[in-house]
Amino acid sequence: MTKIDSTTEAVLVGPVQIGGGAPVVVQSMTNTDTADAEATAKQCAELARAGSELVRVTVNTPEAAEAVPEIRGRLDDGGCGVPLVGDFHFNGHILLRQHPACAAALDKYRINPGNVGRGARRDDNFATICAIAHDHGKAVRIGVNGGSLDQELLTSEMRKNADHDLDRPSNEVLNECMVISALESTEAALACGLGRDRIVISCKVSAPPDLIAIYRELHARTRQPLHLGLTEAGMGARGLVWSSAAMAVLLAEGIGDTIRISLTPRPGGDRADEVRAACELLQALGRRAFAPSVTACPGCGRTNSTSFQELAQRVEDHVRERMPGWRLRFRGVEELRLAVMGCIVNGPGESKAANVGISLPGSGETPRCPVFVDGRQLTTLGGTPDEIAEIFLSIVDDYVERKYQEVES
Ligand code: SF4
Repeated sequence: MTKIDSTTEAVLVGPVQIGGGAPVVVQSMTNTDTADAEATAKQCAELARAGSELVRVTVNTPEAAEAVPEIRGRLDDGGCGVPLVGDFHFNGHILLRQHPACAAALDKYRINPGNVGRGARRDDNFATICAIAHDHGKAVRIGVNGGSLDQELLTSEMRKNADHDLDRPSNEVLNECMVISALESTEAALACGLGRDRIVISCKVSAPPDLIAIYRELHARTRQPLHLGLTEAGMGARGLVWSSAAMAVLLAEGIGDTIRISLTPRPGGDRADEVRAACELLQALGRRAFAPSVTACPGCGRTNSTSFQELAQRVEDHVRERMPGWRLRFRGVEELRLAVMGCIVNGPGESKAANVGISLPGSGETPRCPVFVDGRQLTTLGGTPDEIAEIFLSIVDDYVERKYQEVES
């Protein structure tokens, strides 16, 4: 894995370290009603199982605050220790004060400086949350968001821009306000007694070029660890591409200590997709390895059957099914590389480059499937697609058993 030196502070959130050179942490957020402890605990566990190392839950009502300790308890009873982050807006100071068990059960509080109140009340409310975090030994995330930026700050900076004929584009002024809000709030949190080892910062906007500009600026101006995320990224391909376009640039520059990909799920869709996307992004950039990768070609006019697509899917499913057990038994198995290719053009080459690869025949080619293990041809398979799949998967299982060291129990 690529190691990029980080100069950020280390912040502990439960047992998870953010910043200070730790691997980039994957986060996600539930979309259940937090007051429904059973449903929320279930989704937290699903997100954690998919690879989320921190899970954020909305805490917006007394009922939600009351449910948090039960959610924590249910997770602990199920053997899931994933740290929980409370997302507070408008009434966080009240909920945390009135529900100390909630304050204790959470591992981090997210504070949006634009949503803690106005004027002097804002400062008081902010200080209340910081004091509770301090008393409970919890971390906070100062989470500035473009859609809920401190309006007093924005108005003042816009006026300065107009009064001094600075002629800066409005998005530039807004970006600067985001950075100012985050840094000033950090100073305020420090003044409230929170240590630098308790503060994570984020400044989320919805346009990738703005996100890149803001985080480069933050990186230059603070050593607090940074949580990356493109807010309101959207659904499906748009959400994936826009989030990756922004975050890949920053991560490649060594900026970002923790990430979330904010995908809007399709109705009935799987919330854990956002976790898998974040893991894939980090794995694609060589920053983390979470699961074996399966290289598969896209197919083209050289292959007129769906055999290789079906085999690629079967291999993906097999790896996903096996991985929970493999992870416990075999050290380093997440770095396994597999390949399923569609014809002789790139098939043998990609298959040789993988740990275990198979090159299926394209149209007009001899119906034989060479299998390569660590660059050498092991065998050639033939038969029905089912037979080929079964033998190939047994070769993969055998490779894992032989190549990866057993974890000592
Ligand atoms: S490996 Fe063959 S089938 Fe697959 S995309 Fe390349 S040329 Fe097409």
